[in-house]
Amino acid sequence: MNNPEAQATLRRAIPIAVASSSTSVHAATRTAPRHATHRVEVTWGGTRVAIGGSSAIAVQSMTNTDTADVEATAAQVAELALAGSELVRITVNTLEAARAVAPIRQRLDAQGLEVPLIGDFHFNGHKLLTQAPDCAEALSKYRINPGNVGTGARRDDNFARLIELACRYDKPVRIGVNWGSLDQDLLARLMDENSRLAQPLDSGEVLREALVRSAVDSAQRAQELGLPADRICLSAKVSGVQDLIAVYRELARRSSHPLHLGLTEAGLGSKGIVSSTAALSVLLQEGIGDTIRISLTPQPGESRAREVMVAQEILQSLGLRAFAPMVAACPGCGRTTSTVFQELAERIQSYLRAQMPAWRERYRGVESMKVAVMGCVVNGPGESRHADIGISLPGTGESPVAPVYIDGHHAVTLKGETIAEQFQALVDEYVRSRYAPTEPVQASPAD
Ligand code: SF4
Repeated sequence: MNNPEAQATLRRAIPIAVASSSTSVHAATRTAPRHATHRVEVTWGGTRVAIGGSSAIAVQSMTNTDTADVEATAAQVAELALAGSELVRITVNTLEAARAVAPIRQRLDAQGLEVPLIGDFHFNGHKLLTQAPDCAEALSKYRINPGNVGTGARRDDNFARLIELACRYDKPVRIGVNWGSLDQDLLARLMDENSRLAQPLDSGEVLREALVRSAVDSAQRAQELGLPADRICLSAKVSGVQDLIAVYRELARRSSHPLHLGLTEAGLGSKGIVSSTAALSVLLQEGIGDTIRISLTPQPGESRAREVMVAQEILQSLGLRAFAPMVAACPGCGRTTSTVFQELAERIQSYLRAQMPAWRERYRGVESMKVAVMGCVVNGPGESRHADIGISLPGTGESPVAPVYIDGHHAVTLKGETIAEQFQALVDEYVRSRYAPTEPVQASPAD
């Protein structure tokens, strides 16, 4: 990190080393004002994650291990938390899983990881939380699906029992409706009412109404049972982009509970990422959504943490939060026939992400830094000037030099076989100089 040559370049390029970032994430925001909601706090130890009430939009994720496997689940929760998941949900579907929750919590605490755990309950949550009180204590929030708590009178009793347990253990809940497990009695009743209308709605509209009604009415019922309004989040997940947008607009209109956004069964690979981004971007742009989860189906062997990275990148791309420096890279074209710039862009992006756990502690605001890696002189210098630090690599037939721009000014031109190493050293020095006010770099006359 202490590269004298790079330091010298930085001294020439940065007039005032402690200048604040030019890339304020809030200043760049163009979203509508956030939909006003209650603020729900999810806590564990000294960690307090706020959802709604104008707090930062929280990133959450969910494990796919067997919760009864304490070791595997604790390891995956740790992986997700270290990737930046501020809340992690785990399935609690059997007594074995419920009994594993407290030991999972203990393992995480022993590692100094206080990420709050959310228990995902279906069908038997009221029984499990009663039979395993240490599970009820170790969880920081309960997810309840009102479509999966029984039928008829038993549904009402089971739901009431879950709410009573949330009150007893002083835990917030998410009332999470899902179109795959929608309350069929409610849907049948609404379909019946609709059929008697002079101009009946189409079945899709009735289904969306049932989703919203299930969430809103369940929240009302939970409050009547004694759970305070600021202990309740809502979600109503579907797998279609347009359906999700329509449902959440209506949910926001009819409720003041914080909203958990996510497309359910988003799918594999690029399809899941694109669908989730399309749906969530529209809603977030309208100020709707207080916490997000991206439900990606991992490829075999792929890290579960990818869904955390995608969630962060959606929020950062919209200018709503900043998590890690962003690398702007051109797509490449016939002007650049080597892979040098692709390799450099990948190298710098990976390097920046890898440094973030340490940098976040030491360099305030570094997560907003913008880096550009461009393939030739057509757009390279221009894009580089708009970044905090950018490099324009030589395209095919161009002289083998790479101008570097820092804070909009040409700072140095790199050449030779070690351009990648030299640029990485410049990035390091830029971070040290720009984001560490305790280590100011003195201004010196430009060349
Ligand atoms: S910057 Fe150059 S190499 Fe990159 S896409 Fe544009 S013209 Fe092609």
